[in-house]
Amino acid sequence: MHRLYRLSNQLHYGFNCTRVIPSCRKITSLAIETSCDDTSVAVVQKTSSESLPNIVCLNTHRTLSKYEMYGGIHPSIVIQEHQKNLARVVYETIKQSQSLGVSNYDLITVTRGPGMLGPLAIGLNFAKGLAVGLNKPLLAIHHMQAHALTVQLESQIPFPFLSILVSGGHTILILSRSVVAHEILASTTDIAVGDYLDKCAKYLEIPWNNQMPAAALEKFAAPTLDDLNVDCNPPNPMSTGEKAHNPNFSFSGLESYARRLITSKSWSFSEKKILAYKLQEAAFKHICQKITKAIESTDLSDVRFLVCSGGVARNSVLKKMLEELLISLHSRGLIPETKLVYPSLELCSDNAAMVAYTGIRMFEEGFKSSLEVEPIRKWPINSILNVNGWIHR
Ligand code: AMP
Ligand code: ZN
Repeated sequence: MHRLYRLSNQLHYGFNCTRVIPSCRKITSLAIETSCDDTSVAVVQKTSSESLPNIVCLNTHRTLSKYEMYGGIHPSIVIQEHQKNLARVVYETIKQSQSLGVSNYDLITVTRGPGMLGPLAIGLNFAKGLAVGLNKPLLAIHHMQAHALTVQLESQIPFPFLSILVSGGHTILILSRSVVAHEILASTTDIAVGDYLDKCAKYLEIPWNNQMPAAALEKFAAPTLDDLNVDCNPPNPMSTGEKAHNPNFSFSGLESYARRLITSKSWSFSEKKILAYKLQEAAFKHICQKITKAIESTDLSDVRFLVCSGGVARNSVLKKMLEELLISLHSRGLIPETKLVYPSLELCSDNAAMVAYTGIRMFEEGFKSSLEVEPIRKWPINSILNVNGWIHR
């Protein structure tokens, strides 16, 4: 190990400690993600050079069957599950990466927010314990920043890039100019698209089959069936008056429409399949319309990639619609030739590999976190550094 690195490592919570990382140095991060229902732990390595990072191991525990019984994520069960599973998942991850040796981890990274305070606190406190026990720096990072950077785990995607982050708690369009600079171009004014899709699955009583509810909805949905004509005409949110000029998203009107329509009568199995498709499609059409609106007033001449990330990015209908959108926007001269990129399925939804990678990138930018940091429930992605607890190394 480089001498300067080791020296500063011994002192990393002291004052005036300068860390020098040789350019070829490999950084290894152990990370914990508990911002919502998934208990995820990973070890990721990255050299300072241009090569892609290496996910040494990634273990995610999901208790979908319990949440299905409760009709959705139940905060007290989430806390119970993290308490029950986190230590074991950390233990298994350390064991799987034992050839590295825990003393060779360079960072302990954890999600600090945004998310549910109770679950976040469980991960954060565990990470603090590891950081203290192993005498390593703590990196307490932003969950949506991690979703935005996930694609860089698998491909060379240079800044600046545009991202549509679609998950159970968020729907935001951002322009990422660097690891810490993310401009919000549009965000949801009410519920997130994942929440809307999960509710559609619930109203249609689609069994989860050990998948997330919106994933079950996607599998269940059919564009047409048996020449059936189903009377389903979802509203086009924020499309009239002043709101038509606003690039923000809204899904609560669609959700009320879906609930009213589905509970208005008894639908056959085939009719339900078509409803599922049309209700899902309405949300994605709305996303495409509002991305267009946001792009019309933004200079994207230096952007070459649109990243789609977050749990809903697993959806193949959405990805197809976004691909078609980019072609159409380019042909209208609104954007340069832009490629749609998205993480592999496992990395779309919450996972600790993206957290580990973001911790490494923040560390490379010169940051670590104070041991006094607390979880943050609401933390806009354009204010990553505007919170207490960052220490400039
Ligand atoms: P996240 O909050 O990033 O973990 O994403 C979870 C959200 O993604 C939940 O609302 C899931 O139901 C949703 N999701 C997972 N798979 C799919 C899919 N194939 N299509 C649409 N949404 C999905
Ligand atoms: Zn997430």
